[in-house]
Amino acid sequence: MNFVPVIGLEVHAQLKTDSKIFCGCSTRFGAEPNLHTCPVCLGMPGVLPVLNRKVVDFTIMMGLATNCRIASESVFARKNYFYPDLPKGYQISQYEAPICESGWLEIDVDGRAKRIGITRIHMEEDAGKLVHEGALESSRASFVDLNRACVPLMEIVSEPDLRSPEQARAYMQTLRDIVVYLGICDGNLEEGSLRCDANISVMPEGSQTLGTRAEIKNMNSFRFLQQALEYEIERQIDLLEDGSQVIQETRLFDSDEGVTLSMRGKEEAHDYRYFPEPDLVPIRIDEEWIGRIRQTLPELRSEKMERYVREMGIPEYDAEVLTAEVETARFFEETVAEGADPKKASNWVMGEFARLVKERGSEPLHIFPGQLAAIIGMVDKGAISGSAAKQVFEEVFESGKNPAVVVEEKGLSQVSDEGAIEEDVRKVLEASPDQVKQYKDGNEKVLGFFVGQVMKATKGKANPRVVNQVLRKLLSD
Ligand SMILES: [Zn+2]
Repeated sequence: MNFVPVIGLEVHAQLKTDSKIFCGCSTRFGAEPNLHTCPVCLGMPGVLPVLNRKVVDFTIMMGLATNCRIASESVFARKNYFYPDLPKGYQISQYEAPICESGWLEIDVDGRAKRIGITRIHMEEDAGKLVHEGALESSRASFVDLNRACVPLMEIVSEPDLRSPEQARAYMQTLRDIVVYLGICDGNLEEGSLRCDANISVMPEGSQTLGTRAEIKNMNSFRFLQQALEYEIERQIDLLEDGSQVIQETRLFDSDEGVTLSMRGKEEAHDYRYFPEPDLVPIRIDEEWIGRIRQTLPELRSEKMERYVREMGIPEYDAEVLTAEVETARFFEETVAEGADPKKASNWVMGEFARLVKERGSEPLHIFPGQLAAIIGMVDKGAISGSAAKQVFEEVFESGKNPAVVVEEKGLSQVSDEGAIEEDVRKVLEASPDQVKQYKDGNEKVLGFFVGQVMKATKGKANPRVVNQVLRKLLSD
């Protein structure tokens, strides 16, 4: 019997606001433990949360970008559970009336667009973090760091529309593209800015009844997401084929072993006793507010890719590579805006630019799009050779110097003047009578020898295209 996987994802995205969701503390990562805290995010009695308007703006942006209905009224709820990193004993989240509902986005499945439903998007606060002394098993003390408590999160819940681990990965990638392009989350999975849980079950092909599902947590990369789902599908199919049953439970992905492990069963499942948060008023969002946010929506990755192909005539492959990171796309577009030919700019950005950015890591760039456009222009005019252009580019990338100055300093300018080159060509031909005879006897290959000699004589500064032209002209005399 063939089985079909049914997958739905719950993704938490940390929003890129300066301050926390219910207090004015900084959200900056990497500070000394508990530095960014106040009575509100420490959960002191008697304090009152105040909603950060930016969190609502960002969530509306996400809702609009994923075709959701934005609720005219939504409310916060308390999700009650005990854990030492949660000082209030409850998390402020949304439950019955989330801010966004009933949306969708499209993923690419074998070159065709497949629509994946978005059930809801809601806002909530993050919890703190426990730091254990040494290894967890042998630890004698645990510390709590509440810098992360009250940092704004957005949870995006999909419909169970995904039918394979590849589709789940494509969906996650598309979500990442959207939040990064919107500028509302940095999209870093490894650092936990984007976290993913999956609900997964399998059902016999042709069946309409969903199987019992398991929830998998702890997948912090696209690769782990795919691996965990692949493993879990196999595990569930094996169980059903053996005549046993899949148990509804929460499982953890162990990336070292590549397996999912049982974490807690249904009987241990939390009862969160949700109820409306009495300290926060309902959020009313009118058409004017939505309209204002709609105006600020930037071009998304899928739209950019389509425009690059349609308006700039560059290949789909290039468009995909150039838009993978929003900064790269911006650099490319500005280079074209500075007058560079799109395909040439694309080759540079995908080639030398990408290579150097990768080598330098996160160091700030010294090169500006206008400088790359100038280098491309110099090659077009024959003022420098293609290989000299790479040297100039690398130097500008390192130092930020003006490309023309680098060409001057390094003596890289190329001679394209026919008259000047003709003189060198004549000397080479006079010095090689045997080869001239061979050429005139029909051996075309000797031309390469002459080009090499001229380049040597000019210390590589002659424009090879002009050298070829002049050689052919003089040899045909
Ligand atoms: Zn605070």
